[in-house]
Amino acid sequence: MNDICRMKIIPLSEGTFTIDKTKQFVPFDDGTDVLKARPVGSLLVEIQPFVVITSKDVLLIDTGLGFSDGNGVMQLHKNLKEAGIDPGSITKVLMSHLHKDHAGAVSEDSDRSRLCFPGATYYVQERELDYALDKGLPSYLPEEIQALKGASNVVLLTEDHGLIDNYIEYQVTGAHSMFHQVFWIREEEEIIFFGADDAPQLPQMKQRYAAKYDHDGKKAMELRKQWWEKGAEEKWTFLFYHDFKTPVLKA
Ligand SMILES: [Zn+2]
Repeated sequence: MNDICRMKIIPLSEGTFTIDKTKQFVPFDDGTDVLKARPVGSLLVEIQPFVVITSKDVLLIDTGLGFSDGNGVMQLHKNLKEAGIDPGSITKVLMSHLHKDHAGAVSEDSDRSRLCFPGATYYVQERELDYALDKGLPSYLPEEIQALKGASNVVLLTEDHGLIDNYIEYQVTGAHSMFHQVFWIREEEEIIFFGADDAPQLPQMKQRYAAKYDHDGKKAMELRKQWWEKGAEEKWTFLFYHDFKTPVLKA
């Protein structure tokens, strides 16, 4: 086997946050903050988009919170550069769903009419976009994602299931959000799986737990079980967007 062909995975952590029923993401410093001091029911989550470099593409998977620093530089762009990736080299942006912690850097913080990756092709479920624009706060920020409508470099997916460029499979699950989708990226004998918020953290793969924050928590729970079993069989590499310990796991 030739090592040069292997896909490269780069997690781009934006930090650890707590989130409660107000759906506000509050930064959490492991060294100084105490989880118990946060409102009851607060969840501790990492926010981390991924870059996957394949033989054909530099893929960006989900786009993080979309925060920028005092100089108007997007954190995602900064994180990409620190990882040695020119933001202009991203060829495809895959969106699992459009909740604000996944879709923040779809467009520029300083000008929401401009997409952050004008040279890339964005892949978005059209029904998720329509739902998000209609529904709005607190889970969606329409101004962040409005620019996806009508842009020439956006592919609005209308099917529940399909293939992008013959090697990236998408499947609408409707579990975490009504039109949430997951991805498998296949190259040579490797399979990378991104379950996004249907499979956000490693511990949830191992315990049976239906989350109240999901659109269909029971379905997400069943899917996690199926994926965990199939992934073990087929040696998938799992990407966990919200896991602060194990962003990437090879089964
Ligand atoms: Zn979500």
